[in-house]
Amino acid sequence: MNRIYLCLAHMSGKEQDYIKEAFDTNWVAPLGPNVNAFEADLKRFACTDKEVVALSSGTAAVHLALLSCGVGPGDEVIVQSFTFCASSHPITYLGATPVFVDSEKDSWNIDPDLMEEAIKDRMAKTGKKPKAIVPVALYGMPYRIDRIMEIAERYGIPVVEDAAEGFGSRFAGKVLGTFGEFGVLSFNGNKMITTSGGGALICSTPESKNKILWYATQAREAYPYYQHEAIGYNYRLSNICAGIGRGQMLVAEEHIAHHKHVKDLYKALFEDVPGIELHDNPSSLDDANFWLNTITIDPSIRIVGQENAYKSVVKGAVGGAAGVVHAVDNPRTECEPNDNVEALRVFLDAAGVEARPLWKPMHKQPVYKDAPAYVNGVSEALFKIGMCLPSGPLVSDEDVRYIVGKIKEAIV
Ligand SMILES: *Cc1c(COP(=O)(O)O)cnc(C)c1O
Repeated sequence: MNRIYLCLAHMSGKEQDYIKEAFDTNWVAPLGPNVNAFEADLKRFACTDKEVVALSSGTAAVHLALLSCGVGPGDEVIVQSFTFCASSHPITYLGATPVFVDSEKDSWNIDPDLMEEAIKDRMAKTGKKPKAIVPVALYGMPYRIDRIMEIAERYGIPVVEDAAEGFGSRFAGKVLGTFGEFGVLSFNGNKMITTSGGGALICSTPESKNKILWYATQAREAYPYYQHEAIGYNYRLSNICAGIGRGQMLVAEEHIAHHKHVKDLYKALFEDVPGIELHDNPSSLDDANFWLNTITIDPSIRIVGQENAYKSVVKGAVGGAAGVVHAVDNPRTECEPNDNVEALRVFLDAAGVEARPLWKPMHKQPVYKDAPAYVNGVSEALFKIGMCLPSGPLVSDEDVRYIVGKIKEAIV
C-alpha cells in the first residue's frame, strides 16, 4: 500500500498545456498572460469586485499586505497565536512586534473579545494603536469575521485576513479573504490548490492593487533608469507557475468538495470511537473547506506504545517535509502534544499514514518569548490533544476507512 499523506498536490492535466503555452510564446518572466488569466480566475472564484495580485508565496502576500498597512519598526500587529509561522514572521521582517491573541473554543481561531481586550491594553500601555489585525482560518475553518470586522472598524484598524489555509471557505456565504483590507492566499505544494510555490493578495481597491504590484516589483520610479525612493521586493509570481495555477483552478471546486466529503466520512466513522472528536463547522454560518481534517484525542485514551513516546529524537522533518530542519538532541520541550498523541502519530507513521500535531501556538515558540500575548489557554490545550489527518484530493474513501481502522487498532 502507498503511503497516505496529509495533502498531496493533484493536477487537472491542463497545467502542462498552460506551461507549454508560456514556453511557446516565450513568456517565462514573472509577468505575462498566465499571470493575468490566473488573477482573473481567482477573482471569479472569490465572487468579488476586489482586485487580486498573484505573488511568489503566501508569506510574501502577508509581508506586502502589512507593509501596505504602514507597519514599520516599533509598530505592533495583532495576530492569531494559533497559526503557522508565516502569519507572524513577516511582522518581524518589518521590524514590528507581533501581539499574539489566543483562540475561541468553537472555531479554534482568534477570540474577538480577547482581541478587543488586547487592542485596549496595547493602547493603554504603548499609547499607540496596533497597525493591523491578522486573523487566520486555521485548517480552513472560518474566523468570526463579522465580530472581528465590527471591532476593527470601531478602532479604525485594518484587517489582513490570512486565508492561506482557507481557500474557498465561506463565512455567512461570503468567501474568506474578501472581508478585510487584504486577503492572503497560498498556493504552496500542500495547500488546497498549488502553483508549486505561490500566493496571492486580494486587495480592496485598484489603487491598493497598484501599490502592492509596485512593492512586488522592486518599487521603481518612472525614469529611463532605475530610480528608487522606497525599498521594494521581488515577489511577483512567475508566468510558468501561474500556468500551473490556471490548470489548478479547473479542479479547485472539485478539491474543496473532496475535502468536505473526506470530512463527512471521518465524522461518520469516528462517531462510535469514544474520546476522539472531529473538528467540524461550529455554526451554520461557517462553511470550512476542511483543508486538513483534525481530531482531538481525550487524554484518558491509551495508545499502543505510549510508554515510549518522546523517547527518541525525530530525524529530519516530520513526514519528510521540504527543507532543512535543525537536528535536536532532546526530544522534549516544555510545551508538546500529550504522550498519547505522539504515540498515535508514531503508530500511524508505521502504518504508512502521515499525521501531524496541530500547529504549536506562536506564543509558546521560543523565538517569540518576548512578544506580548493575550492568552486564555485554548490554543495550548488544543495543541496538546489535537492531530491533523490526511485530507487531500488523493485520499480515497478506502484510505479514510484504513486510517480510522488503524486509529481504533492503536487504542489500547
Ligand atoms: C501556508 C501558510 C502561509 C504562507 O504561505 P506560503 O505560500 O507557504 O508562503 C501563511 N499562513 C498560513 C496560516 C499558512 O498555512
